[in-house]
Amino acid sequence: MEVLTLGPDATLAQVQQLVTEQRHAMGLDAMPVAMHADVVCADTGQAVQWLQDHANGMVLPAVLYHDEAMRPEPMDDAALDERLRGLRAKLRARDRAWWKTHKPANGMVECPQCRSMLNVEYCGVRGGWWNRCPVCHGDVRPEQVARQFDEWKHEYQRLRDLRNRQLQMPAYPVCWLVAVSMQEPATVRITPQ
Ligand SMILES: [Zn+2]
Repeated sequence: MEVLTLGPDATLAQVQQLVTEQRHAMGLDAMPVAMHADVVCADTGQAVQWLQDHANGMVLPAVLYHDEAMRPEPMDDAALDERLRGLRAKLRARDRAWWKTHKPANGMVECPQCRSMLNVEYCGVRGGWWNRCPVCHGDVRPEQVARQFDEWKHEYQRLRDLRNRQLQMPAYPVCWLVAVSMQEPATVRITPQ
């Protein structure tokens, strides 16, 4: 099996000419090339398999693939990093005593769990209470505030995991893999152009 690898900008006319020239040099007749731009194989092995599965004796298939023989493209994800920075800034307020800076007019907060009345003068001070009820240890922040912090935290963890996965799996450049001859499918010879 003879295949060519070309950059992603290759046109059908260029590819067809290269394939025809190479087939003539091998003593083979010209055959039309069909470029399948709707598929991107994950690596060379998958692309070779894809070509074998889609060759039919009438056309020579060509498929896009991530070429792990090429240097990975530097990961530029400034937008994702910016969102992570923004969420970190919001989450910094998570453990601050909420009622210390949101004092109710009567100076008292009712624990939503056990209904204890808590004096905000003791909120966020040494020996006092923070965001947990001193009686039942339930969260005493308004429900939507606690929920908002939880949502930010989940979003932060999701984006951080996504970013970590991206860093572990570098994006190899996308190229074309083009079948030139499907003879002897067990032996794959790849010629870069
Ligand atoms: Zn309580």
